[in-house]
Amino acid sequence: MTIFNAFSKGFGRQSRKQNKKQGLGQGKGSETSLASSTSNASSATGSTGATTAATNNGQVQGSAFGNKKPLFVRQPFIQSALVKGSFKTIVILPRYVDLGDWLALNMFEFFSNLKQFHLVIDEFCTARTCPSMSAGPGLDYLWLDANRKPIRLPAETYTSYVLTWINNKLNDETLFPTRANMTFPANFPSTLRNIYRQMLRIFAHYYHNHFETLVHLSMEAHWNSFFAHFVSFGREFSLIDKRDIEPLQELISAFEAQGKLS
Ligand SMILES: [Zn+2]
Repeated sequence: MTIFNAFSKGFGRQSRKQNKKQGLGQGKGSETSLASSTSNASSATGSTGATTAATNNGQVQGSAFGNKKPLFVRQPFIQSALVKGSFKTIVILPRYVDLGDWLALNMFEFFSNLKQFHLVIDEFCTARTCPSMSAGPGLDYLWLDANRKPIRLPAETYTSYVLTWINNKLNDETLFPTRANMTFPANFPSTLRNIYRQMLRIFAHYYHNHFETLVHLSMEAHWNSFFAHFVSFGREFSLIDKRDIEPLQELISAFEAQGKLS
């Protein structure tokens, strides 16, 4: 798990979320309403997952890069990596380790690292920069509200809901048991796939909308290696739905050609 250890370095920044909110003219009230609506939205996603939609919203089409290829699939960034070689060797189930334990451990660590990146990106992801949870031209992820109605949320709100929802799942002892005498539930695989899908959407949004920021912060090598590790793990344990990787397919194909993914 050397890749995870590497991520723990260089993330000492405090989120300036509060400053950002004040800059947008939002005060304590919005924090309160966010918290109160999170549980409803989270429970909706917990049973069904969020959905996607093509959008006619011109604000998200073409992302920040116009008609050019997104920055993350251009040289030299597409080759930036913290770790060389294939991730296959570190995602396969180690001998004598329980499969459920291995899956749970890795999901905890992916989540922990994704939260670290979120702390960094969150101050750049505002209702003004990202009025929807977009992942490239014509693709918006929609949130299902408490009535299972798809709604378009600013990416910062969507992301916060997702992270809260995942955190609640991971801390639910009935889903992720930590005591030796407990077993993983029958719906464990579907729970993992739902969590994985939502994390993948955050990757997709950050790649398409905030990769430039990661480059400015010299974090693109960490980010690329983190993502290659995440995809390698998802493939190894069949957590990926093909439709979900479409926004990042070109990048994934490049990683395959580079030998990071097999
Ligand atoms: Zn954003």
